[in-house]
Amino acid sequence: MINFCSNCGGKVHVSVPPMDNLPRHICGDCGQIHYQNPKVIVGTLPVFEGKVLLCQRAIEPRLGYWTLPAGFLENHETAFAGAKRETQEESGAEYNQSQLYRIYDIPRISQIYIMYIAQLTHATLDPGEESLSARLFEESEIPWDSLAFPIMNDILKDFFIDRQKGAFPVAEKVL
Ligand SMILES: [Zn+2]
Repeated sequence: MINFCSNCGGKVHVSVPPMDNLPRHICGDCGQIHYQNPKVIVGTLPVFEGKVLLCQRAIEPRLGYWTLPAGFLENHETAFAGAKRETQEESGAEYNQSQLYRIYDIPRISQIYIMYIAQLTHATLDPGEESLSARLFEESEIPWDSLAFPIMNDILKDFFIDRQKGAFPVAEKVL
């Protein structure tokens, strides 16, 4: 929700601009239209010697729950670079090789996840401030009931099925 204009500080109202078909936040003083668009989240499913890296969240929402490293893409950053940065920040994990694996559309909350499979170069982890801990899990150890978000359950389930088949085709899914 936007109340005031970031351009001039004027009061903002919601209406459909000319030549548009959706309501927008419009400044009553300078006329600036403040568009709001979906947020892009980038992350990885990091793998090392058959195990998968999960981070335990140190921040809300879902504090204490386990997640794959992921976070908001920054302006002027590529999805590939953002995924690598988020992985490093949240777990300390490093990798040189990764491949695009999933795009999740979540229109209900206007988010898009872009997720890569990453082959970690070593198992030395160093969770940052956003994680309580970071560790590698065998498939049988995955805390399915304590995963932070439904997309984490979905991508991990798909990953283990694809691993049985020996191929990891890219897919776009709607959650
Ligand atoms: Zn304004």
